[in-house]
Amino acid sequence: MTTAFISHQDCSLHNMGPEHPESPIRLHAIRRVLERTGLIEQLIQFEAPHVTSEQITRVHAELHQKRLEMKLPEEGVVYADEDTALCPDSLHAASLAAGGAVLATEKVLSGEVDNAFVAVRPPGHHAEYKAAMGFCFYNNVAVAAAHALEQEGIERVAILDFDVHHCNGTVDIFQNRPDVLVCSTFQHPYYPERYTEIDRPNIINCPLKAHGPASEWRKAVIERWMPALEQHKPDMIFISAGFDAHREDPMADLNLEEEDYAWVTERILEVAGRFSKGRVVSVLEGGYNPVALAFCVLTHLEVLAASNS
Ligand SMILES: [Zn+2]
Repeated sequence: MTTAFISHQDCSLHNMGPEHPESPIRLHAIRRVLERTGLIEQLIQFEAPHVTSEQITRVHAELHQKRLEMKLPEEGVVYADEDTALCPDSLHAASLAAGGAVLATEKVLSGEVDNAFVAVRPPGHHAEYKAAMGFCFYNNVAVAAAHALEQEGIERVAILDFDVHHCNGTVDIFQNRPDVLVCSTFQHPYYPERYTEIDRPNIINCPLKAHGPASEWRKAVIERWMPALEQHKPDMIFISAGFDAHREDPMADLNLEEEDYAWVTERILEVAGRFSKGRVVSVLEGGYNPVALAFCVLTHLEVLAASNS
């Protein structure tokens, strides 16, 4: 009974400049904490492979990939949107990030591991069908969910997103797919202000006011996510695991703590145990205080790994 930890050192080659919060330090901090606490020893590590064009094309326009490839600079950085930059290695890293999410899906579906955490960057949940934005190029969790739905026996999946930002990209991609339930808690009003008013039975948007207590967030998970999951009965669950709703995150103003991430991970595993044969793939999204991020990931992984022992 095992938890996979999937990453790749080349994810750190994606560098949008020394001032950018979505920096290589994030993954270094996570690895350091997992090594120092010894938790890494309990995980089965895999190196992320590249994603294939076919896997990307399930959720992104071919034109989107081509545009990014044409934009890729030979040196320096160029901007895909006002806060999303490409350096020469960015698409190499983005391909490994999406490929890592696909590998996690395959490892969990084959039964080789029980669940998996994908520690990659760039993140993905803001990337829409045909647009890079909000530090994201390819929607890693969407690529993984679409990959799962190609497999026999996987008819419905759920994507649960507790990043502080709304998952506009994931909603854009799956808004007309009743087989994909998308549940999101997010600070509102706040970036990116797209699709927050959408009315679809498979999209569960839970806006939260800035500076509110963690209890409001927990209430949204219990009262909005859980009934939707009961109804949807997903064959597999994906987590867009952003940790920027943490109290110490510089980017936003929600007040979650590590214990809240332990709590939500436990709730998700309970649902996965009932409907999804325990199949959970969690993919890193945001989290911009590297120390807080690393300890949140540690907590999340302790719960994922403990469920197997
Ligand atoms: Zn975020």
